[in-house]
Amino acid sequence: MIRAIYPGSFDPVTLGHLDIIERASKIYDELLVGVLGNNTKSPLFSVDERVTMLKEVTKHLDNVKIISSDGLLVDAAKENDVQVIVRGLRAITDFEYELQMAQTNRMLNKDIDTMFLTTSVEYSFLSSTTVKEIAHFGGDVSKFLPACVVDRLKEKMIIK
Ligand code: ADP
Repeated sequence: MIRAIYPGSFDPVTLGHLDIIERASKIYDELLVGVLGNNTKSPLFSVDERVTMLKEVTKHLDNVKIISSDGLLVDAAKENDVQVIVRGLRAITDFEYELQMAQTNRMLNKDIDTMFLTTSVEYSFLSSTTVKEIAHFGGDVSKFLPACVVDRLKEKMIIK
C-alpha cells in the first residue's frame, strides 16, 4: 500500500490544487492533504478554515484525508507512515524552488521521495495569491475556485 501526502498552504484551495488532489488520489492508495504552516507567508485563512474548506471540496474522494501540521513536512510524513510527497508543477518558475525542497527533504529523510504532477494547462497560471488579489479588487473568482470557497473568500473580504 502506498500512502502519499500533498502538502501546501492551500490559502485557499483552488481548482488547480483540486485537480492535483483528484489525479493523485487515483495513483496512490491513500492521499493525505497536509495544511502546513509556512513561516514565510502570512495567511488569509486560519489553518482550521483551510482544513474545513479542503474537507468540503474533497468529500467525494474516499481515499483522501485532510491533516494539518506545524512541524517539518518529513516529520509529519513519518508520523503518518507516508512514503511519497506529491507536489504540483505549474511552470519552469516553480521548478527551482520545488527541486530545492525535494532535495532538502530527501537529505532529511532518505526514505521519503517527492513526485511531481504537472498542472493541467487550464490551471497553469493559477495560484492562491493571484485569486486573493482578484477578489481583493472585487473581481470574479468563480472560474478559479470551488463554489464553497468562492463564498468563504467573499465573506473574508467583507469582514477584512
Ligand atoms: P506552498 O505554499 O507550499 O507552495 P501552495 O498551496 O501554494 O503551497 O501549493 C501547494 C502545491 O500545489 C505546490 O506544489 C504548488 O506548486 C502546487 N500548485 C499550486 N497551484 C497549482 C496549480 N494551479 N496547478 C498545479 N499545481 C499547483
